[in-house]
Amino acid sequence: MPFYIVVLGPPGVGKGTQAKILSEKNKLAHVSSGDLFRENIKNQTDLGVLAKSFMDKGELVPDDVTIAMIKNRISRPDCEAGAILDGFPRTPAQADALEKMLAEFKGQVDKVPYITAAEAILIDRISGRWTCRANGHVYHEKFSPPKEAGKCDIDGSEIYQRDDDKIETVTRRIKVYMEQTAPLIDYYRRRGKLVEIDGTQPVEKVTELLLSALKK
Ligand code: ADP
Ligand code: AMP
Repeated sequence: MPFYIVVLGPPGVGKGTQAKILSEKNKLAHVSSGDLFRENIKNQTDLGVLAKSFMDKGELVPDDVTIAMIKNRISRPDCEAGAILDGFPRTPAQADALEKMLAEFKGQVDKVPYITAAEAILIDRISGRWTCRANGHVYHEKFSPPKEAGKCDIDGSEIYQRDDDKIETVTRRIKVYMEQTAPLIDYYRRRGKLVEIDGTQPVEKVTELLLSALKK
């Protein structure tokens, strides 16, 4: 049976950081909707142009194109054993669509770790986030700086601050999360899948909490 995990939580809480670690430890694909959109923007595809117009304002990309993109991604062979989903679903309609598409693969969402932290922590993390141009590797100017300033440790490419990590957009993104994504907390709690994780801890500690929650 494939194993699918949805990592839920507000922007900047550490979903991408933890999803990457979990995917390496469990040998499961890491599927990040934000990374897929950024790849499309970099390659100047039609989807990229459309997505950018929403992302720059801190709004969600419409459900239909987002769902189609994820369906296409998780149909690929590297997701046959399952996947760690990061940033998707973000609306109840996306969650319903996910249930349907996983059923086609004889799978289901197994667990939903919900990572939490107060808004001040989210803003601190997002405003210090630096992302690498080539592959989206993530750093933080205070909490996990690169060895050489301005350069990715892994591939040597330039690191930059995402346009949507500017403070004006961040506050909008947090509001959009509260309005459109937070209903998923109850959605998955009602289905007995939600496990709350204290995201205020250092990265290694959050990973420990996640791993022990996923074992249960
Ligand atoms: P998300 O995917 O939820 O938006 P990220 O994983 O990109 O969040 O993390 C946001 C920023 O916070 C990044 O710069 C990352 O390096 C940093 N970060 C992630 N987890 C922690 C943590 N537990 N403690 C301190 N900084 C963290
Ligand atoms: P992230 O990389 O998860 O912080 O996402 C960055 C931006 O991409 C979000 O602010 C949205 O504009 C867009 N995005 C990512 N995932 C989704 C999703 N599941 N549904 C709609 N928009 C999304």
